Amino acid sequence: MSFSSEAEAARLFDRLGITPGAGDLGSTSPIDGGLIGKVATASPADVAAAVGRAQAAFQHWRMVPAPRRGELVRRFGEALRAHKEPLGRLVTLECGKILSEGLGEVQEMIDICDFAVGLSRQLHGLTIATERRDHRMMETWHPLGPVGVISAFNFPVAVWAWNACLALVCGDTVVWKPSEKTPLCAAAVAAIFAGVAIEFEEAPEGLLELVQGGREAGEALADDPRVPLVSATGSTRMGRALAPRVAVRFGRTLLELGGNNAMIVAPSADLALAERAIAFAAVGTAGQRCTSLRRLIVHDDIYDHLVGRLKAIWPGLSIGNPFESGTLVGPLIDEDAVAAMQAALARAKGQGGAIQGGEPIGGCYVRPALAEMPAQSGVVIEETFAPILYILRYRTLDEAIALQNGVPQGLSSSIFTTDLREAETFLSAAGSDCGIANVNLGPSGAEIGGAFGGEKETGGGRESGSDSWRAYMRRATNVVNYGRDLPLAQGVDFDLPTE
Ligand code: NAD
Repeated sequence: MSFSSEAEAARLFDRLGITPGAGDLGSTSPIDGGLIGKVATASPADVAAAVGRAQAAFQHWRMVPAPRRGELVRRFGEALRAHKEPLGRLVTLECGKILSEGLGEVQEMIDICDFAVGLSRQLHGLTIATERRDHRMMETWHPLGPVGVISAFNFPVAVWAWNACLALVCGDTVVWKPSEKTPLCAAAVAAIFAGVAIEFEEAPEGLLELVQGGREAGEALADDPRVPLVSATGSTRMGRALAPRVAVRFGRTLLELGGNNAMIVAPSADLALAERAIAFAAVGTAGQRCTSLRRLIVHDDIYDHLVGRLKAIWPGLSIGNPFESGTLVGPLIDEDAVAAMQAALARAKGQGGAIQGGEPIGGCYVRPALAEMPAQSGVVIEETFAPILYILRYRTLDEAIALQNGVPQGLSSSIFTTDLREAETFLSAAGSDCGIANVNLGPSGAEIGGAFGGEKETGGGRESGSDSWRAYMRRATNVVNYGRDLPLAQGVDFDLPTE
């Protein structure tokens, strides 16, 4: 491969105006294993200082009118448009997703900026009927405080933006701890944001604090009582360790954890459409999306045809440098991920699976695997963050839904069918138990307008669109008495003796 990640990094840093210098945390590109930059890890004391600055900034920012806060986010969106190409390339360079997905990730940031700008004029509470005469009852939504955002490597910039853009228009400040595997993407975004904030009169210093590092920095954020909300994206293992730490100080968490997403393909499905959806969802981002398709549940009547087609398509998937047009599958994030995939395939084989593909082909590159399984056994109910598609058979829709729901995770799901009854059953209370349930499209590739997140071990959080903004604010119930009496609720009498 003539490609040099170091040379590409130098060009991108120049265009993005960052100079990642000396530091103890190195970032390597999964494309060729080259060291592309270093940053300094934040110690717990550094994290505490960052939270202190964010807290001081909050005192000011919470009083800036929300539409003005939206104006800052609007300008940030403009700056992202101007930097879309180099930032998208840096995403590809540092986490290995193909270039159109790297650029798409920046587009997602731009989209959430636009959404947040509109939202900044729409933050609203209810006025509620009161039982007391000459009273008014209402809800007011107030900014919450400095919000901690912990992000995963596989969406190194977009998921932060889902959180940060909403938090900022809601009047919060942000302390961001990105993945230790993608610190340079975070440094570039923070630099773009700083360039916008410095030109914006009402923006205090400390509006966005970046703390680099791994688990220790994340734990310091989780433990800090000045951080009322920690929004954390990553594995279920991480969520299981983090959530009790935040809960013990009565902080709130917004958790976006692992998925184990399935697609049911029914006999009436448009199979040509299903094939394309399966391929994108299973091998796109090299199977490293939280919403990646991991379990395909196929009706007996079409099993041989559909699985035969997949077996023919899989060996032809182009694997390689994610910058090259035509590449569909880039590298995994690191060699540990390659090893984890091999271990999962060995277990699948041991559990009776018939495997096609999955071989490592050097560096962080692997062939995507198909694994026909006799049952939804141990390895299938776990999330392996790699392009392995487990395939299961079913006969009745009830059986298919039971398989779909029979895993600990509850992020995304889909069904391919042209039978209205099946589609609506899948979407009903007796259907998919996931936060996302789609019909005739795959489980991955959500748009920002909807609330994003999942149930069970996925953590229950909702981010991005719909009314997810409420998680970044605190609700006050207000009652105003504009009369001359003091009626008590529930008809309670409490008359003081007359003098
Ligand atoms: P990870 O859990 O290894 O790390 C995620 C983040 O948590 C990193 O910033 C890491 O430094 C931090 N962290 C790890 N342990 C911690 C601890 N004990 N305390 C505080 N912080 C800690 O995950 P990853 O490998 O970066 O990402 C892949 C995982 O993320 C997959 O499980 C994927 O499904 C999940 N994910 C979920 C969503 C979603 O929206 N549900 C989105 C993207 C990724």
